[in-house]
Amino acid sequence: MNSLLRTTVRDPARPAPVERFRGQSRRRLVRADLLTVLAWASVAAAIALWLADGGATGFSTLAGTFTALGIVAGLAGMDLVLLMLLLAARLPVIDNAVGHDRALEFHRKLGKPSLYLLLAHGILIAAGYGMAEGLNPVSELVSLWVQVPDMWLAIVSLALFIAVVVTSLVAVRRRFPYEFWYAVHLLTYVAVLTAIPHQFSTGALFAEGTWQRWYWLVICIGTGAALVHYRVLEPLVATVRHRLTVRRVVTEGPGAVSIELAGRHLDELAGSGGRFFIWRFLAPGAWWHPHPFSLSAEPAVFDSSGRGTLRITVRNLGRGSAQLTRLRSGTRVAIEGPYGLFSTAARSRNHVVMIGAGIGITPIRALLERTPFEPGNATVILRGHSEAELYLGTEILDLCRRRGATLFHVTGPRSAGGPTWQSEAAVRSGHRLASYAPDVADSDVYICGPSTWARSAISEARAAGVPDEQLHYERFDW
Ligand SMILES: Cc1cc2nc3c(=O)[nH]c(=O)nc-3n(C[C@H](O)[C@H](O)[C@H](O)COP(=O)(O)OP(=O)(O)OC[C@H]3O[C@@H](n4cnc5c(N)ncnc54)[C@H](O)[C@@H]3O)c2cc1C
Repeated sequence: MNSLLRTTVRDPARPAPVERFRGQSRRRLVRADLLTVLAWASVAAAIALWLADGGATGFSTLAGTFTALGIVAGLAGMDLVLLMLLLAARLPVIDNAVGHDRALEFHRKLGKPSLYLLLAHGILIAAGYGMAEGLNPVSELVSLWVQVPDMWLAIVSLALFIAVVVTSLVAVRRRFPYEFWYAVHLLTYVAVLTAIPHQFSTGALFAEGTWQRWYWLVICIGTGAALVHYRVLEPLVATVRHRLTVRRVVTEGPGAVSIELAGRHLDELAGSGGRFFIWRFLAPGAWWHPHPFSLSAEPAVFDSSGRGTLRITVRNLGRGSAQLTRLRSGTRVAIEGPYGLFSTAARSRNHVVMIGAGIGITPIRALLERTPFEPGNATVILRGHSEAELYLGTEILDLCRRRGATLFHVTGPRSAGGPTWQSEAAVRSGHRLASYAPDVADSDVYICGPSTWARSAISEARAAGVPDEQLHYERFDW
């Protein structure tokens, strides 16, 4: 069934600041471009500094050429690994420019190239050293292992990188629970640490009086400091400062509950609607399991000390989320965040289209609450198997009425004729995205829902002429 609801109530408190959105979007895209240039420049700098410190002399013989190429591969590989760590460090400058999920997408894309470079490093160095000493690469590797004190650590490091990259490949990842993949991923830090000693003993990377020494010291210490600050210290400070506790758990529909949390200084989180936090509920059996959940309402602040409430809406999809449906009030909660660009910070246009499916509807509810638009300039499309699965549907209807947004419910079974974000009935009726939102090409389009569904919605938005910089989506998978 498709239903259309529309109101024309004006909301004079929030005029649509078109110019601000265009300016904000331009600045964000420039920041994203600068970060990309900086990332690739760091690889070029690592190689240029090695050349400046006399690295090119190795190219005078064949053995030297193999060794030199091995060093170049090692430098580029190590630089990419540090970039991957920075992309996963949740740095605000990266999150605000490209969003958390795109940062992780880039992080994932660098996984295989960095592994290939590190493998090439090991093979080329063994071949180069072997040629110089009249040994084959395998014997040279064994001799390095036995004779060079830190070489076994470098080989362990390479083995750990292989384990991390292989378990991150989509096909392999799906076979394991999230926790296993997460634990293996933590080995990246061990892999980086075990790679460093051989750079002191055999490589001249940290040799006194070289430019390389300063470059690598700065990026290694900088990356370590960023990880400790943003992944450990900031979450600890946020947890202590906001002192969140569960206030109540409310059933919202089949298998879904809203968890309301009370806390302090929540005014500092204002404008977060649609963004997500990583939550750790400090209850027996649940405290060790961090979950990313998006806010399903703007933070509500009651007084000048910032006392108020936050709300998330959780669908019971597995053991961990099932436990959350039984949380007791008063349970303490640790948080990391907010993260992501599924918010007004990503806006670039006056018109906005918000499309949510299943539990992905809930951040749409939060975004709809405050994101600025003129009545008539916003379209909300909710997709679910049945009306009961349009989570927070009544609140969304009420918000659409109050703010003058057009609302569509697209319910019913999926189309059998291939992947589509709509129902069978809607496809048969010939509905396209532009049938719901004729201005879609000139709108910001927010999409949130299961990954296959979201891919289909994104590709239809692109086909309807929505440029990539106007497309904003949140992935709920890992
Ligand atoms: C940015 C983001 C925002 C999200 N927002 C919401 C939300 O508002 N409401 C909601 O109900 N769900 C949301 N999710 C999905 C939610 O985090 C997972 O469904 C939940 O953590 C599953 O926990 P579990 O122990 O029940 O899952 P498991 O039993 O371990 O597995 C069930 C499913 O959840 C996936 N999963 C498990 N842990 C994670 C994790 N840490 N990150 C991502 N996927 C995981 C598994 O791959 C599996 O598909 C969000 C996910 C992301 C990445």
